[in-house]
Amino acid sequence: QGHIEVRNFALSYETIDGAVEAVTDTQIHVEPGEFVSIIGPSGCGKSTLLNAVAGFLEPTSGVVTVDGNAVTGPSAERGMVFQQYSLFPWKTVRENVEFGLKMRGMPKFERARAARTLLGLAGLEAFENHYPERLSGGMKQRVGIVRALATGPKVLLLDEPFGALDAQTRIIMQQILTNMWQRLKISVLFVTHDIDEAIFLSDRVYCMTARPGSIKAEIKIPLERP
Ligand code: ADP
Ligand code: ADP
Repeated sequence: QGHIEVRNFALSYETIDGAVEAVTDTQIHVEPGEFVSIIGPSGCGKSTLLNAVAGFLEPTSGVVTVDGNAVTGPSAERGMVFQQYSLFPWKTVRENVEFGLKMRGMPKFERARAARTLLGLAGLEAFENHYPERLSGGMKQRVGIVRALATGPKVLLLDEPFGALDAQTRIIMQQILTNMWQRLKISVLFVTHDIDEAIFLSDRVYCMTARPGSIKAEIKIPLERP
């Protein structure tokens, strides 16, 4: 479960100056449980492609499917994490995660315990009663990932999630994401412009050319994970 297929994909934005071709002639796939990254220079269309998989944008041509079903809009089966994750500021860390559990239809009496379990995966146990404003950027993004996972998605989509973090925090977050992915056996599609990050995290890396972006190479990572 969690098989993503993108075929003959193109997407143009309609603007007052005419159509802006952002992505052209693109095929990608993510196998169930696979961790795949897309790298490429700024503006090449990575976010555009990811947002189409999320269901926020409709392709101009081509098709996006998850487990054989065409993507026609956002869904809890596709969790999304943005660079600037907007947590609910009036909710505590645990309540933010419980919101995701509610979306998935979990009854109220089960939510607190399930939220604590998920928070534990990200080393956030001690912060469950904190409000987001009291957290560092790295901690906020941990909560953002946990909240995206709380809806029980089959695939997790991340758009430069660590782009705003300092180098040291980034490395810690990469390790945490790897641990969560290994435990949850979820499919991941990860967008970054950082080749080192992509190679550290991924089973496979797609390289996108400058705009209009299209996949021109694929790197299989042979490294054994620790
Ligand atoms: P990346 O994520 O690789 O930085 P994007 O997908 O954000 O690239 O953008 C791809 C191209 O599409 C860029 O040239 C960008 O300026 C353009 N673009 C993105 N969003 C819009 C939009 N809403 N309207 C018009 N052009 C856009
Ligand atoms: P990223 O961090 O992915 O490169 P940007 O900072 O380029 O994103 O874009 C941020 C937002 O602005 C996105 O929602 C994108 O769709 C929009 N955007 C980017 N380029 C354009 C553009 N040329 N015209 C209109 N909107 C754009």
